[in-house]
Amino acid sequence: MTRPLIVVLALAVLAPGALAAYRGPEPLRPPVPTSAEKRSAIARMLARGESVSCGGGRGDAVALTFDDGPGPYTARILDVLRRQGAHATFFVVGNRLQYWPEAAREEARLGDVGNHTWSHPALTRLPHWVVWLELMRTQYAVDEDVGWKPRLFRTPYAMYSPATNSIVRRLGLLQVFWDVDARDDVRHAKVANIVRNVAEGLRPGAIILMHDIHPWTLAALPGVLAVIRAHGLRAVSVGELLALDPPAPGQRCPYGPLPAGR
Ligand SMILES: [Zn+2]
Repeated sequence: MTRPLIVVLALAVLAPGALAAYRGPEPLRPPVPTSAEKRSAIARMLARGESVSCGGGRGDAVALTFDDGPGPYTARILDVLRRQGAHATFFVVGNRLQYWPEAAREEARLGDVGNHTWSHPALTRLPHWVVWLELMRTQYAVDEDVGWKPRLFRTPYAMYSPATNSIVRRLGLLQVFWDVDARDDVRHAKVANIVRNVAEGLRPGAIILMHDIHPWTLAALPGVLAVIRAHGLRAVSVGELLALDPPAPGQRCPYGPLPAGR
């Protein structure tokens, strides 16, 4: 056998193995959990009977959350997120949905829609039946817009009690807090401050609180997304975070203003 032939034969035998061993560049698109994976991640958290304030901190995902909308800036916030390939969860105030009838559908397409009550009251000061009503009306209003009821709930002003928690649980809702506050809910918040507030608390598994009803939140969003990317992280919805990087049972969140428990 001539020498060139041996080389060719050797290559023919070895090359497939070598190609298999070479896994190529990292996939361009990071894994995105399916709806079923998100649903079962939320169901697992519900079964634990705990609320959620952060993820496990072992991945590259952080959850962006926007409260109090929809509002006049929601569509443009969605545009920014869409252009940058970021996902988010929108905790909507039910009585606002009628004014932005497209909002919930667009939010659902980009991430997730959560329940933030019907009229944003301090739930702990209300009779139980009114708390029921506040939650139920928003469940049905979202269902009307997107075809399913929310599975995530965020209580206004972070106010809760054993009584409100039991109503949240009985409606099959998972209570979600946060561990990074962008503090964009102050009048005329400065873009640089919002970005800095997020940057200071940022780490894998963070749940970031923002509000899609302020112009300065819209203005700060590109900076917030840039700082997330600069940390090697990516913005996902809460359901995606729970599927990708769930917190350990009873896990406390390093930066959170609230305990991980209920
Ligand atoms: Zn709120």
